[in-house]
Amino acid sequence: MQDFGENIQQSHNEKLGRHLVAAINIEPGDTLLEERPLLVAPHWECHQLKCAQCLQESYVMCRRCQVFPLCMDCGQHDDFECEFFASGAGKAICKDILVKNYGICGLLKLLLLLDNPETKGDCQGLVGTPINLSDYRDGEGMWQEHEELVVRPLMESGLVAVLPAQQLTSDTLHAHCIRIDSNSFEVTARDGDTLKGVFVCGASLPHSCVPNTVVALDEQFNMKLYAAVSLQPGDIIYNSYTNPLMGTSQRQHQLRLSRRLECSCSRCLDPTEMGTHMSSMKCRECDGGFSVCEIEPNGRLGDWRCPDCGALLTAAEVHELQAEVGTALVEARGELQVYESLLTQYGPLLHPNHFMLLDIKQNIASILRAAALMNSMEQPCKKLLARRVELCSDLLPVCRAVVPGISKLYAIGLFEYLLALVELVELQFAESDLNKKEYVAHLRTASLVAKEAMDLLRFEPENSAEGYLSDRIAMELERIESDLKKYGR
Ligand SMILES: [Zn+2]
Ligand SMILES: [Zn+2]
Ligand SMILES: [Zn+2]
Ligand SMILES: [Zn+2]
Repeated sequence: MQDFGENIQQSHNEKLGRHLVAAINIEPGDTLLEERPLLVAPHWECHQLKCAQCLQESYVMCRRCQVFPLCMDCGQHDDFECEFFASGAGKAICKDILVKNYGICGLLKLLLLLDNPETKGDCQGLVGTPINLSDYRDGEGMWQEHEELVVRPLMESGLVAVLPAQQLTSDTLHAHCIRIDSNSFEVTARDGDTLKGVFVCGASLPHSCVPNTVVALDEQFNMKLYAAVSLQPGDIIYNSYTNPLMGTSQRQHQLRLSRRLECSCSRCLDPTEMGTHMSSMKCRECDGGFSVCEIEPNGRLGDWRCPDCGALLTAAEVHELQAEVGTALVEARGELQVYESLLTQYGPLLHPNHFMLLDIKQNIASILRAAALMNSMEQPCKKLLARRVELCSDLLPVCRAVVPGISKLYAIGLFEYLLALVELVELQFAESDLNKKEYVAHLRTASLVAKEAMDLLRFEPENSAEGYLSDRIAMELERIESDLKKYGR
């Protein structure tokens, strides 16, 4: 059994089965769990060969086994993996097994871990969980992808015959693919590409759309799980496997597809989604009313009703509108004016915090940011900079509300707002739209925003994307403080 340290311990109940709870009083930021990945692999659909050791792009193959890519820096990869194809049971397998079907890489690594007596035990937590294949077969999405990219190529490769002890059938291979998917976090290689890191313990925590933990992943793919809020002894440790900026129906759809999970967390049962109204519609009958989704006690989503006037909006009508906006969003593909006109068109029908409006606003803000970075605006147009500040600030209260406690989402939101604000007020000051006193007041706000963002990122590892973001914010803060010194007296 794994040693969990003093902060957490295992517990059991009927609904969740085995799970982890706080063992003592825990403070926000306290580490709950540290874990190395069982394996790191490219996504199934990845075609870019990656070094078997460091997972960065590589075009050369290992000279010894001639099967796995290996970059110039690494020189060697896992000995069992290499040996298996160089002179072990796999030596007769065609050398281009991986090159031809790179999608099998993750599963191939797992099969070799299972074949290695030294690592077989580490896999038990993963392969020991039963998978009900009939839940997945012929379902939407991943079954077909697994079949085409992984299972069929592996079955045809001759590998099954040289791993007789595992008694592999196409069903066992499908079950392994599902286990890899549902136990992985997205990790980032040093070259910036995303990969799947399989974490037996960390990725098997029960889900809540309002998690009480934060997952941190560093460049070496180490995972650290820390508390987002204070925990009391016995509190269940939750993680979230969905995007907090999605509305309830979207999150639930995604959780059903990826994890066969029906979520009934506090946010899913709250029609206002923690006061944000991210799924609420403008009432069609009365002025100023908002229709909220009626949720049955079992968590099932019903129709939308306005609490002010009682008017009903059927679930079918709402879903139709959502589908329409969804299609328009896909078709907008990076066109600033199209996004703006979507806001004008759908704004009057939805709550200002509706997740689809937030999605459109995020799209606009990121286009404006990219434009500012590339200096592609004719001259940095103050109107567009001001628009960016406005959009970033609209997102902040929602980011704050949906992830309580220490929140990377909110930290990133603050950073985006900070960049936009500083850029705008610097230009306004330079062009004398702001006097010294006004400029200083804005810089004071910016300084507070920077400090709050850095405070939220202080438990992240230094060598992680969030660690680098924190350094970036520190640089920005230094600049702000030096201007404050210069003008602030
Ligand atoms: Zn390498
Ligand atoms: Zn090799
Ligand atoms: Zn939920
Ligand atoms: Zn109404």
